[in-house]
Amino acid sequence: MRQQTIRKPVSVEGIGLHSGKPGRVTLSPAPEDSGIVFRAGAERERIPAAPESVVNSHYATTVGRNGTRVQTVEHLMAAAAGLGIDNLDVEVDGVEIPALDGSAKPFVALLAAAGRREQSARLKPLTLSYPIRVGGGGRFIHLVPSGSLRISYTLDHEHPAVGTQVLTYTPGERVFVEELAPARTYGFLKDLGLMRKNGLARGGSLDNAVVVGNRGPLNGLRFRDEFVRHKVLDLLGDLALLGRPILAHVVARNGGHALNLELVLAIQRALGLERRHAGAPARVPVRVPADGLATAPGLAVI
Ligand SMILES: [Zn+2]
Repeated sequence: MRQQTIRKPVSVEGIGLHSGKPGRVTLSPAPEDSGIVFRAGAERERIPAAPESVVNSHYATTVGRNGTRVQTVEHLMAAAAGLGIDNLDVEVDGVEIPALDGSAKPFVALLAAAGRREQSARLKPLTLSYPIRVGGGGRFIHLVPSGSLRISYTLDHEHPAVGTQVLTYTPGERVFVEELAPARTYGFLKDLGLMRKNGLARGGSLDNAVVVGNRGPLNGLRFRDEFVRHKVLDLLGDLALLGRPILAHVVARNGGHALNLELVLAIQRALGLERRHAGAPARVPVRVPADGLATAPGLAVI
């Protein structure tokens, strides 16, 4: 497998989910091994999409550098990951990636319109030699070494409109485009006042989020289990901060962006990748178990 970028620049604009402010993103082709890089602010500060660039993971993933920030990058990141776009220049006018319809579907359409171009450099997937776990109690993510990526997610919520939803996602372009990308972000009507007071969900509306009232969603669902699908989409977008595909079975329960960030930081530590951005070459222990799943003391094969 080789790295991919897009063929031509494309733009989209819209209101940010949390800031409520208008923004515009322009996606352009980028050289191999450059990864996804945001450029924002008057000085066009370069902010690599990487775990160490994350400055806030409260309700959304915000990246920043030297005081310049870009909020809510996860749905664009998920779309790029889902379509196998590795290298991308993302110029941002504004403080937040537009919410559009609250899902990754418009970004999939945008990337499709840009076309894909295969590059000469090979993809270098990340593999782990031992399991990783973050969180605890009812909120956790376990990562088990595997020959390919698989995400199993359990979402438990007291609201009966959500309830318990379970999904296992195995990446594939069709399944991503049709089954995962269209799942929208969601929020609860009762939380909206407090969130807005705290500078969140100020652009949120029925046009870009599933809003759940006391009796259930105020707008129609795209999937019966749209909530857990969106959780997987967010996790996929946050995992894409690693810059390379990871071969692992990711087992998550009731996580969020903060836990996702804990996971990618733990993966980075495990792989010793922190030095990558300091200019040193990445050192990646490569050992894919022959049976696709590895066991470790205290952790059963899931
Ligand atoms: Zn989301």
